[in-house]
Amino acid sequence: MHSYTLIAPAKINLYLEIIGDASGGLRQRPDGYHELAMILQSIGLADQIGVHSLSTDSIRVHCNHPQVPTDNTNLAYRAAELMATQFPEAFSKYRGVEITINKQIPVAAGLAGGSTNAAAVLVGIDLLWKLGLTQSELEELGAKLGSDVPFCVAGGTAIATGRGEQLSPLPSLDNIYILLAKYRSLEVSTAWAYQTYRQQFGNSDIRDTNNLAARASAVHSGAIVKAIFDKDVRQIAQKLHNDLERVVLPAYPQVLQLREVIANQEGILGTMMSGSGPTVFALLESQQQAEQLKLQVREAIPDEDLELFVTRTITHGIQIGSSV
Ligand code: ATP
Repeated sequence: MHSYTLIAPAKINLYLEIIGDASGGLRQRPDGYHELAMILQSIGLADQIGVHSLSTDSIRVHCNHPQVPTDNTNLAYRAAELMATQFPEAFSKYRGVEITINKQIPVAAGLAGGSTNAAAVLVGIDLLWKLGLTQSELEELGAKLGSDVPFCVAGGTAIATGRGEQLSPLPSLDNIYILLAKYRSLEVSTAWAYQTYRQQFGNSDIRDTNNLAARASAVHSGAIVKAIFDKDVRQIAQKLHNDLERVVLPAYPQVLQLREVIANQEGILGTMMSGSGPTVFALLESQQQAEQLKLQVREAIPDEDLELFVTRTITHGIQIGSSV
């Protein structure tokens, strides 16, 4: 096979708690990342990623979205570069790769668009170069690229701790319907969100630094995890949580207003910002209710810059679409 097409789903955060970060107040990780306790959920909204063998040693990226870089700052490019350095023999045998990104996931939206593209490239090159890597080997490689990349490989529903790379799968949540709402022109930098959280809450909100492992494991026995095991969608929706709302919502009044408009609509089970935002999501019991909410939000905020997507929870991460 010389080329593969992969489906790379986005994720939402059902839960995001900052346990520690790089400030003096909260525990400093040697690598400067934040200690997190998250629950991540794959959703149906996905990019299509093509990986194709080249007869030269170059890595080339094409993308249909003007805001996505195609140089070595693209996470998909960096995934290919990582594979070339980790597997030099395979690289010299199979040579370079051309990566085509058909971007459907909004960019800088808190939906792990870049991370899922990187995960797809790891899976695609593993196939192209016939490496036979295991899921945990792919996740380990993913952790070198970014916090959300390991989760994006297998996807589904999982607890992620550490900087996001320590994964514990949870029972699948199939067919919970979701409305995603994002202002097209609004992007939030993930680095800015964490840095601002640290500046604003790093000193006043000091956690017990000796007790980090206990705090990370507390999420495993928390109310939302119990609700996931019970498949109690109403209870899951009641227990949604995201620490980053504390910094992103005050800084982006448009997102705060959107969040409030959605929260006040009838029929929703719950709503929350995903990751570092600015995407706001709502959970609903049926596709019909999600389509209805879309109309209601559109009517309440008739701004063409506001993008609305109806999607649902899915039980997998990267999937092989086709091979040639
Ligand atoms: P996360 O939820 O993992 O924090 P995100 O959804 O907030 O991610 P991305 O869509 O991954 O954010 O984009 C963040 C930045 O990364 C963008 O501004 C873009 O310039 C850059 N980027 C690099 N590679 C990609 C890619 N393959 N797809 C999208 N953005 C990319």
